[in-house]
Amino acid sequence: MTDYILSIDQGTTSSRAILFDTDGQVRFTAQQEFAQHFPENGWVEHEPEQLWQSVLDTCRAVLRDNNIAAEQLLTIGITNQRETTLLWDRLSGEPVYNAIVWQDRRTADYCEELNRQGLEGNIRERTGLLIDPYFSATKLRWILNNVPDVRARAERGELAFGTVDTFLLWRLTGGQSHVTDASNASRTMLFNIHTQQWDTDLLQLFDIPSSVLPQVMDSSADFGKTEASILGQPVSIEGVAGDQQASLFGQACFHPGMAKSTYGTGCFMVANTGSQPILSDNRLLTTVAYRLNGQPTYALEGSIFSAGATVQWLRDGLKLISHASQAEAMTEAVKDPLKVFLVPAFTGLGAPYWDPNARGAILGLTRDTTLNDIVTAGLQAVGYQTKDLQKAMERDGIRPENFRVDGGMAENRYVLQFLANILGATVDRPQVTETTALGVAYLAGLRAGVFASLAQIEQTWKAEYRFVPAIDKNRRDNLYEGWTDAVARVRSDREGTTG
Ligand code: ADP
Repeated sequence: MTDYILSIDQGTTSSRAILFDTDGQVRFTAQQEFAQHFPENGWVEHEPEQLWQSVLDTCRAVLRDNNIAAEQLLTIGITNQRETTLLWDRLSGEPVYNAIVWQDRRTADYCEELNRQGLEGNIRERTGLLIDPYFSATKLRWILNNVPDVRARAERGELAFGTVDTFLLWRLTGGQSHVTDASNASRTMLFNIHTQQWDTDLLQLFDIPSSVLPQVMDSSADFGKTEASILGQPVSIEGVAGDQQASLFGQACFHPGMAKSTYGTGCFMVANTGSQPILSDNRLLTTVAYRLNGQPTYALEGSIFSAGATVQWLRDGLKLISHASQAEAMTEAVKDPLKVFLVPAFTGLGAPYWDPNARGAILGLTRDTTLNDIVTAGLQAVGYQTKDLQKAMERDGIRPENFRVDGGMAENRYVLQFLANILGATVDRPQVTETTALGVAYLAGLRAGVFASLAQIEQTWKAEYRFVPAIDKNRRDNLYEGWTDAVARVRSDREGTTG
């Protein structure tokens, strides 16, 4: 009988259950989507019962459909959409409000007010984060202040707060565990990443009663056991991490200076900075990558709003392609070097510009510009924006020489070769591309004794292909200069415009 590690990947649009064998290979998966709710402009919610049911269904399906018994499960890991906020009744387990999703902007005015009060530096020093509705603190405060009766119930100690990991742990253990891991805690804007404690000053600032808070654990720890009725017999849950940190771990980036980039709808670049948190001067986020044996490992994180989203726009908006996979072939007919730049600032520019009012543009058009050029420029934009993040990290003192990549867009070899060229760094695509789920399989497997050490995991991680820079520095600088000129023209704060 084969043994497996079960990874639960609770994402923004779907939940997945993935069975890994003890060599870290994906063997079976199940997936279920759930509804997105947009009750008002800028609001995004998930129904907690749907999140829970989709996790339960996929875990049961992946076992049932492949004739695997619960006793074949060695351990469970959970990775999750980060920052999304829930509050529920400790007795009934019933949420008092929908899950407020990380994308939700309802607390934007309050965040602006905090910025006006000059709190940015203080909050950044404690939490590593910028003041933004993205993080959990202002979402939790909103629920406490806006849902009838809830604040009084919280003050009486009747309610429990959690990010999605915590909510799932509560449900999976039948209310036995009210816990989270340090990587998820570090996204709440309530957690002091230096002391590794909930920050009492911030709790006071946001008016959060400490009785609602979960206990913060290592990322590889005893998170409790599933109730017997859930899978047929109890199984230990021993690995938990937020999705981006989990993929850093799944890419075996265990040493300072190692970095990964995930190219999905958006892009997240995360670099390991070791035992030292580096506070960015370039508006990158400082976060807990993972915590093992009480020792936090920190990371710097930067994100791009539109990576695969640009390809979606080329497909659905401009209808230049009918499938994302067609884009690569269109690059072959393009004259080199391409003089067309596509700046995909559809919803503003993220790190390191943070210009929400910038809008996109296609620049450098001539009579001989073709559709192929525009599609290629869209793909190259992902490379250029990654270069922006690389430069920002360099200014903060982190210089990764290699990038490990994953996500749907990492299918595209043109994109990865262009990345290597423009970054002037090697780009590795791993054999196992399910790096997020793999990360928590590793974390759970470490505690369960499937993996002996980080060193052993490093041995099992393998690149499928390495992309090596094929242009010289002059050429690279030249191309990048073209990009920075193009970005300068779409900035809302450029000279002579009001934005
Ligand atoms: P998410 O987790 O954000 O839903 P995925 O990791 O599933 O994203 O990646 C999907 C994204 O990757 C889509 O935006 C899609 O346009 C893009 N994509 C998928 N395949 C390719 C390809 N061959 N070339 C370029 N982009 C691609």
